[in-house]
Amino acid sequence: MSRMLIKGGTVVTATEIMDADVLIEDGAVVAIYARGAGGVAGDLARAVAEIGAVTVIDAAGKYVMPGGVDVHTHMELPFGGTYASDDFESGTRAAAWGGTTTIIDFAVQTIGESMMSGYEQWMAKAEGRCAVDYGMHMIVSDVNDQTLKEMDTLIADGVTSFKLFMAYPGVLYSDDGKIFRAMQKASENGGMIMMHAENGIVIDVLREQAILRGQTDPIYHSVTRPPVTEAEATHRAIAYAELAGAPLYVVHMSAKEAVAEVAAARDRGLNVFGETCPQYLYLGWNNLREPDFEGAKYVCSTPVRNWDDGHQDALWQGLATNDLQVVSTDHCPFCMNDHPTLGTQKRLGEGDFTKIPNGLPGVEERMQLLYDGAVAEGRLNLNRFVEVTATTPAKMFGLYPRKGTIAIGSDADIIILDPDTTRTMSVEHNHMDVDYTCYEGKEIHGSIDVVLSRGRVLIEGGEYHGSPGDGAFLPRSTSQYLL
Ligand SMILES: [Zn+2]
Repeated sequence: MSRMLIKGGTVVTATEIMDADVLIEDGAVVAIYARGAGGVAGDLARAVAEIGAVTVIDAAGKYVMPGGVDVHTHMELPFGGTYASDDFESGTRAAAWGGTTTIIDFAVQTIGESMMSGYEQWMAKAEGRCAVDYGMHMIVSDVNDQTLKEMDTLIADGVTSFKLFMAYPGVLYSDDGKIFRAMQKASENGGMIMMHAENGIVIDVLREQAILRGQTDPIYHSVTRPPVTEAEATHRAIAYAELAGAPLYVVHMSAKEAVAEVAAARDRGLNVFGETCPQYLYLGWNNLREPDFEGAKYVCSTPVRNWDDGHQDALWQGLATNDLQVVSTDHCPFCMNDHPTLGTQKRLGEGDFTKIPNGLPGVEERMQLLYDGAVAEGRLNLNRFVEVTATTPAKMFGLYPRKGTIAIGSDADIIILDPDTTRTMSVEHNHMDVDYTCYEGKEIHGSIDVVLSRGRVLIEGGEYHGSPGDGAFLPRSTSQYLL
């Protein structure tokens, strides 16, 4: 039996802040006891000391928190003739460096093929390579009678959430009838429908017109995906979900008008949820306008938006009031310049923004960025930080309480964060397989010093102690967050 004691820290969960020590046995939390309480707690501390063979980690002056749960990543996703530059090995190792101990990635169904074959392909890519535990969502790009049956099979396998696209006509897009049929199925079998909510048909018209006008720079990626295209699609998805009686989780929200749609649906008592990502909380048109094609770094969909229009404030407010429930990354990196094996990536779109691969890096930076922006800057409290980065994502996608909290019996996926440090973000400190960060030079408070995955030390003393294959596949139950 392996034992570890995390001593002297302040344990933070979504509901508690307590000066307590955490005892881990064989990868799970087995005791949490308050310091200075004397009595039984004191006896327990002494008993643990007497057992011996306990690895002690000193967390004095630091926060002991659940490892991050990032429910939206795209390792080695094929997009626009290339692949996301992080594979499951490099991407999950970078996640560990950044304090994320669970990811949920997306298996992709290819049009004309079964969902199961897409699922098996993605499982093979991840098998034996991940640094942290991982689950899978399924991207549904071809709804038909067979697909609908396969949804039941996947749920039985622990893949309980299905992403559909109202954007990208001809590639991942599903029309309204297909979306509605998938929702009807989800209302029967308990699946969660995840929606990329943008009106891709209208966006394609705007993109074509922009290119004809010679508007080819990265900024036009956002200009041609105006807030109304997100808000309209969000409204429509909510209407269909309500009619079908299915839960709906709107991914990567960036427009305040779309957040208002989710808020209105929630006020009516619907199982409608919203996710946002650090890029929408921190980045905007000023980034897309950086000269010399540098704006391509920030091209993702939904797009980063005009700072002056109040979207960022609305997103932070949505997180504070629980109109938005989750912060994920949509991690999908492409190199600005040549990648050693993948070649030219973002520069595919030089002179034509429609050819810039959509996506940016983030899996390593989410926890730090959110801690800084939420807690250090005072926008959210410590408990809410844990809730939106770990606890709710775990509940939303059926991993709670194994993941997303520090409780008796939970996996010992734990981070130790030192709030008293400041550092400067830079690509030089990062471990993602990509040649830039969107946050170069940004000063942030707090550092994640220790990362445990099921009680194993992955990060300590500025070094990575894990290896590929440490992470295991996580079959998930259906959502635990429904009304
Ligand atoms: Zn995505």
